[in-house]
Amino acid sequence: MSYEVKCWECGRSVEDPFLNTCPVCGGVLDVRMDMEPLKELEPADLRKRPIGVWRYREFLPVSGSVVTLKEGGTPLYPCNILSDKFGVRSMHVKFEGANPTGSFKDRGMTMGVTKAVEIGAKAVGCASTGNTSASLSAYAAKSGLPCVILLPDGYVAAGKLAQAIFYGARIFQVDGNFDDALRIVRELSEEGYLYLLNSINPFRPEGQKTLAFEILDQLDYKVPDRVILPVGNAANIWSAYKGFREMMELGWIDRIPMMTGIQAEGSAPIVHAFDRGDRDFVPVEDPETVATAIRIGNPVSGKKALHAIYESGGTAITLTDDEILEAQRLLGRTEGVGVEPASAASVGGLRKLIDMGNADRDEMVVRVCTGHVLKDPDIIIQSCDAPVKCPADTEAVKRFLV
Ligand SMILES: *Cc1c(COP(=O)(O)O)cnc(C)c1O
Ligand SMILES: [Zn+2]
Repeated sequence: MSYEVKCWECGRSVEDPFLNTCPVCGGVLDVRMDMEPLKELEPADLRKRPIGVWRYREFLPVSGSVVTLKEGGTPLYPCNILSDKFGVRSMHVKFEGANPTGSFKDRGMTMGVTKAVEIGAKAVGCASTGNTSASLSAYAAKSGLPCVILLPDGYVAAGKLAQAIFYGARIFQVDGNFDDALRIVRELSEEGYLYLLNSINPFRPEGQKTLAFEILDQLDYKVPDRVILPVGNAANIWSAYKGFREMMELGWIDRIPMMTGIQAEGSAPIVHAFDRGDRDFVPVEDPETVATAIRIGNPVSGKKALHAIYESGGTAITLTDDEILEAQRLLGRTEGVGVEPASAASVGGLRKLIDMGNADRDEMVVRVCTGHVLKDPDIIIQSCDAPVKCPADTEAVKRFLV
């Protein structure tokens, strides 16, 4: 394993492992693995290990022991009922809610916290209202490193908040918005108080790219035509693209799926940029959507995401909150798969693409469902029918049943 960290904008090498942006141009960083040694590998070599992030350890920038909760290895469900309903050839759901803390963030955190230990960080931290803090607090606990989490004022989904508190992180609710919380945690990181594990961290996408490796592995290296993901800070769509690209560089696949990003209508800077044909985006102020995991107006990896979408011949569209919630229920009630609202965007997105004529019914599609339904129980209770109140009497219940 050898690698370099480079500025994604200007290409400079960056040596200091504590940096999150280019010291010269301020651009985001990117890890480049040396692919030469990997050319000796075959898919069959990897399959001797259990499926999960660390099945692919030669592709990951680590040298020593790892901090792991056995993340990844999530199910790839064929959704035959839904594919019949949508009238498409084949459709799978990659259920990332089956990760140890219930979201794909664990793929990035096993990598990021492993790196924190490797470089001798004294503590780890992030600013987050959601799955990032839920995941980081668990991996920090496993690593033994202290963990600092800054929450902004405002709505935090109950499941996510409960997890962050539960694993023992030190949590501060700052009297400000997300940007304030992020600014503070970045300053703490620059002053050496902690190793920053927000989305801007260059090592997290390396763990997250294993999502693409697993999809290929589970499909016996048959390449799906399209992979659909919800887009918030936009690191995951970039990471998946990167994973597919590395497999192509090795010659294990001969094309890259059309990377397709879904955003909520009230929070769609990437879709607006794509509609204009731009490679950069204009931030959305005061983003709003029920899908809190993608309520992000100024995505850190937005340019990388646009690159992934254009280079793969993909697309990006929006859904309304109602469409997102309807897709969430549809997936649960036809396939038995429970996902949080942001994840359901990838399900609703396919239907809309077909209706718009932007996706072919003959495609083989994989939709990435990023987080578990229990993350946000309040939204379920608001959006589904309440239980029927009735007397404690069998005859009474029977009357309701007919
Ligand atoms: C973080 C998250 C997203 C958004 O991923 P990005 O990499 O920020 O685009 C989507 N869904 C869930 C459940 C998440 O936790
Ligand atoms: Zn630079």
